[in-house]
Amino acid sequence: MIVVLKNSITEQSAEGSRVIDYLSARPGITPKVHVVAGTDRMLTEIYVLGDTSALDQREIEAFPSVEKVVRVSRSYAAIGRHNDDTRRHGFTYNDVTFDQSSLHLFAGLCAVDTQKNVEGIFKALNEHGQRCARMGAYKPRSSPYSFQGHGKHCLPWVFELAGKYGIRVIAMEITHDSHIEEIRSALELSGYATGVMLQIGTRNTQNFELLKAAGRQNELPILIKRGFGITLDESLNAAEYLASEGNHKIIFCLRGMKTHLGDPHRNFVDFSHVPVVRRLTHLPVCIDPSHSVGGRGQDPIGILDVMHVTAQGVIAGANMILVDFHPYPAEALVDGPQALHIDELPWFLEDFQIAREAFEKRLDLSKRWNKK
Ligand code: PEP
Ligand code: MN
Repeated sequence: MIVVLKNSITEQSAEGSRVIDYLSARPGITPKVHVVAGTDRMLTEIYVLGDTSALDQREIEAFPSVEKVVRVSRSYAAIGRHNDDTRRHGFTYNDVTFDQSSLHLFAGLCAVDTQKNVEGIFKALNEHGQRCARMGAYKPRSSPYSFQGHGKHCLPWVFELAGKYGIRVIAMEITHDSHIEEIRSALELSGYATGVMLQIGTRNTQNFELLKAAGRQNELPILIKRGFGITLDESLNAAEYLASEGNHKIIFCLRGMKTHLGDPHRNFVDFSHVPVVRRLTHLPVCIDPSHSVGGRGQDPIGILDVMHVTAQGVIAGANMILVDFHPYPAEALVDGPQALHIDELPWFLEDFQIAREAFEKRLDLSKRWNKK
């Protein structure tokens, strides 16, 4: 059960604490307060943990400070969609709004290498009106002998260059909780030249201590990748960990599943789950066509598989695209074979825009059809 307090009522106010005291006095019930930054206001929500079956919903709704009570019908209490749940979800970070209606491109380097390449990407994105990017500083690699990323050492110049080209949000993977503080202090030192969306990679989807650490801070949003060898339910529960710790600025990313049945793609593309995640949760859904497809395969008329699967995700309602681009893919230190050339950016932008327009037409059609 979630008790949503009225606009401007806080946990500390007399009205707010009356509700919390009421709930705390019920046997076996623990109230946990979450302050959620919605797209238009701050919401104070009380998550009622324990056996709520004996609670009287109408009695709670009778408190003047309570806006509504949402009965949680599934296991994803915080991220799930629930019956009679009309709360507006989504969040704004560094002037960019993310919700299930928006669509943002995060193109860029799989791994930060040289300043010249980072600048080349930011410059091209800026020239095409983009405000978001991907840049990996900490890389989880299968082999200990492979390039591990420049780590914290590259943060000052990456952030400065991002600021120079108007990049507002960079998706950046973290592999250890200490990276959160490294990123936060580098952002502060840069004078908040840009912003960072922490990325939890597929190898860490069930690293529960990392999830808890990322969820405990509320400043930076989090992009959580689906685990490549676990069920969707397990991955959504991982996202629930983040929210249960208090961070509700979450985006869920599909990136393909590890099985040889997807050959010749690197992973089995799972973008048919875009509408499933939109239905089960209120989280914006990201697709990562690069790590799904893993190469530059193309069909007989020359459309790259990376573009085909992007279109498939976008036409199904994806809200974010995370994709590898490089000015010199052959020289990339990580995942060069799957990176698109930066000169292909306008082609990629126009191609997925066609799919987006088709999605919008499908929305209109379904509105008309469902009214009948
Ligand atoms: C990445 O996006 O750089 C990455 C390593 O992705 P994944 O965790 O999906 O493999
Ligand atoms: Mn990669």
